[in-house]
Amino acid sequence: MLRMKSRNSRLASFFMAVILLWGGIAVNLAGLSVRARSQEDYIKWVEFTVPYAALEKALAADIQGNEKNDPRPWVETLAYLAAKYGGQWGRYKAKDMDEFFTQRSQGKTTRELAQDMQYYSYYYEAYDAVLGGMVGEYQISTAPVAESAEVQMETHYGLKAYSPIAYGYGFSHYDDFGNSRSYGYQRRHLGNDLIGSIGTPVIAVESGTVEVAGWNQYGGWRIGIRSFDKKRYYYYAHLRKDRPFAEGLTEGQVVNAGDVIGYLGMTGYSTKENVNNMKVPHLHFGLQLIFDESQKEGNNEIWVDVYNLVRLLQKHTSPVVRNDETKEYTRKYAFFDPWTAAHEQQSGGSTPQSGEISSAPSG
Ligand SMILES: [Zn+2]
Repeated sequence: MLRMKSRNSRLASFFMAVILLWGGIAVNLAGLSVRARSQEDYIKWVEFTVPYAALEKALAADIQGNEKNDPRPWVETLAYLAAKYGGQWGRYKAKDMDEFFTQRSQGKTTRELAQDMQYYSYYYEAYDAVLGGMVGEYQISTAPVAESAEVQMETHYGLKAYSPIAYGYGFSHYDDFGNSRSYGYQRRHLGNDLIGSIGTPVIAVESGTVEVAGWNQYGGWRIGIRSFDKKRYYYYAHLRKDRPFAEGLTEGQVVNAGDVIGYLGMTGYSTKENVNNMKVPHLHFGLQLIFDESQKEGNNEIWVDVYNLVRLLQKHTSPVVRNDETKEYTRKYAFFDPWTAAHEQQSGGSTPQSGEISSAPSG
């Protein structure tokens, strides 16, 4: 009797699914015709394949240019080369970047240099979405927060995003983006697995708003943080069993780059909460790009390969201190991010003013 009932309800849910599917197709078709008319002009797909050597060189030039008051924004540099290579980064040579810098220092603007390049603006917008929150001005305390009542802040320009793994904690990784996974259904691996020890403090890469902090059958205990410009969604998964999150972390909260947000673990691959089903303790770190809110969830998601970015972020790791009573870790140095301040002033407004980046190629 019981079995009979469950078979009937399964049949019922099958028909329900068919009806929903038909409904979905109809809605999609309607959507398509609307789309054709309104010409949605947001970016639909990005592959981030910039080699490590190019990222590192462009970053160094950006920082040096800032010191010499001769701006060389790395997003422009990388977008120019991507457009020159037609996205084929296998063709990258350091001397091409040097040549670009030479022409720039001879007074040519990137706009002039890129005027015949059909895809420059596409690459600029795509790379600005990926890298837009990584470099800029920030302030950091000269002494650990706990040691002095009055905190002295120093202004820096450079990598303001941090490694997702705290300073002094080891991990290993390789470029595992796109590998196939079998749990649940056949899916590609849309992130980078950082293999480390359970309890390693996990760090917010960029400042932003905590959108999710809870259980997901794939990611286990996981945290999702959205950048203030809304273009990046950082995903930190498989956090520690029992105590996955930094004390007090809640959805809707604003965190700063470099803050401790949680602890590395091996939860996930379970519909039941708080279960360790990963074979090896690791942090799954992912980065999703969102140009239009319709890309947040579903078939239109854009996840990029963060392997080279994680390597680059080893240049900026967040030292942490342990509270022996609570066994909680917090960041060692006070940090001031102008983007966070602007966001808080606007009380949930749009693009932070102090971090505004012109989407048009500038000189
Ligand atoms: Zn993973």
